[in-house]
Amino acid sequence: MSSTIPYETASTTADQPLANLLFDYPDADIILRSHGRHFRVPKTFIVNNSPILGELIRRTLGSPNDANAEASLPVVQLPDSSEILRCLLTFIFPVTPLVPSTPEEIMELLSVAQTYQMDSVLTHIRDRIARRNSLPTSLEPALHIYALAQKYGLRPEALRTARTVLNYPMTIEDFDNKLDIMPGAALYELWKYHERVRTILASDLKEFRMFCAGGTVTGLRCTKLSSSQIPYWLDQYIESIGKSPNLFDYAELNIAMARHTKDMASQPRCECASIPSHTIRDFWDALGSIVDDSFERAKSALSLVREREDFRAQIDSSQYKSFDIPDGNFIIRSSDNVNFHVHKSVLAMASPFFKDLLSLPQPPDSEFVNGLPVVQLSESAELLNSLISILYPIRTVIPNSYEKLLYLLAACQKYEMVSVQTFIRSEVMRGGEFPAPQGAEAFTAYAIASSKGLIPEMENAARQTLNYPMTFEFLGEGLRLFEGWALCDLVNFRRRCRDNLVTCLDSYLKLKPPGPSRIWLSCPEATSMAYRNRVLPTWLNELLSRNQNSLKLQKFTSPLDIHSRTRGEYFVALRSHGNCNSCLGVHITNG
Ligand SMILES: [Zn+2]
Ligand SMILES: [Zn+2]
Repeated sequence: MSSTIPYETASTTADQPLANLLFDYPDADIILRSHGRHFRVPKTFIVNNSPILGELIRRTLGSPNDANAEASLPVVQLPDSSEILRCLLTFIFPVTPLVPSTPEEIMELLSVAQTYQMDSVLTHIRDRIARRNSLPTSLEPALHIYALAQKYGLRPEALRTARTVLNYPMTIEDFDNKLDIMPGAALYELWKYHERVRTILASDLKEFRMFCAGGTVTGLRCTKLSSSQIPYWLDQYIESIGKSPNLFDYAELNIAMARHTKDMASQPRCECASIPSHTIRDFWDALGSIVDDSFERAKSALSLVREREDFRAQIDSSQYKSFDIPDGNFIIRSSDNVNFHVHKSVLAMASPFFKDLLSLPQPPDSEFVNGLPVVQLSESAELLNSLISILYPIRTVIPNSYEKLLYLLAACQKYEMVSVQTFIRSEVMRGGEFPAPQGAEAFTAYAIASSKGLIPEMENAARQTLNYPMTFEFLGEGLRLFEGWALCDLVNFRRRCRDNLVTCLDSYLKLKPPGPSRIWLSCPEATSMAYRNRVLPTWLNELLSRNQNSLKLQKFTSPLDIHSRTRGEYFVALRSHGNCNSCLGVHITNG
């Protein structure tokens, strides 16, 4: 145990084994207990610092049946980890403050302080971690802490780490195997913040380029100056920061300058290689304060996931008032509080889940409406309405979107309604009313299907996504529905498909082993090429290698729908190949 905690185990009593007493303050009048560990403290300190704990203590002291009568002092039970609680108490009492050693534990400490509404303690802890620079600066740890800050709803830490993340390029490809660090909802907020920062930066930097930068880098001679008389390369560099904030880095400036001076080595009119170091420093400071300002203004653009969810929950209202099936003997209640009167026997027949649930004795605290027991479900009224319409001999209500259909399938999966699920898959989904999801909806469908374990729909949607670019821009709000692992899986799926395509094109482009390209050998161009290990006529060879190269370069920014894309280019290329009867013949018979 750390020696920085004074008053530790000052006294031992029979009911307080030494090892379990982590904190013993003079004049203690209550015991806080967490996971078997005890903290003897005077309650006034706690009550003054936390309205939440104050209320909890008042209730514990006021309860007549004190379950902890055997202890020497009243005991208040807390759910938090005892190590975190110990650190928390060091910020309440006049003792040496104890900050946990890992950023993860620091986040937990902040989260506990926030939960108990200890405002001054929060400030105190934050001062301390700011002085120690306890938050990470490299990408992967920053993403982890950002994810925790989002999870616990700690805005200052989410902002600090989000800014750190922006020191790195932000694309799906760059994040790659780090995509499973956080749920899509937190990643979406990071992306929105990133977009907002770029917008603000771009406009601030534009102004800087026009009016201010010239002041810090005046009198420079270069072959090409911008309209505001600063070297053109420098102007370009400043502009690039607005597109990728990670380029605001002294090393990047030096790289840009080195590239320029190398190009201009023989140009006497360029003096960029000999810019005085104090000029560069002044320029960098001026640029830095613009960037800081922009980030400051972008602060409000970072939302916490939980705030957005609260907002969504508020605007959600239902058009269903209640749903009565005559002589129902049981009520299921939707997430938006609509009661559905149904029959136990019907639900039990359709669903082993409900059969088990209904065979259990009614819990003592269960709710009754008009004498009927109520079971609260997490599905919306709209969804339950559809589900019940399939169970009963009434007009089937089919959801009006593919997305809602997926949620209906998910509810069937959860309640083990196998035959209902089969009915939806065979009757509804194959009916043509719900074609495969298109565009960004393919990604949304994949996200929902994967999180709900709907394998056929997940595979189908994954294939569909290949027809579209996979970027943060394209995914948009759909990103919020992704589980981290699902996004990672989809990236890997895309990479595998890309690799397969590249290999497949390889087999067309090479003569050995004899591949599917033999059929083109009759073209006079191809036969003359054969000795160069090429078998395809030049026009086709060029077309396929061009596609192969673009596949290697852009697996995420372009669609992978090689078939439809190549087909169009194939016809154009064939036509421009001219009047080669041989190729036309092959095209007509085998193309
Ligand atoms: Zn120059
Ligand atoms: Zn030909």
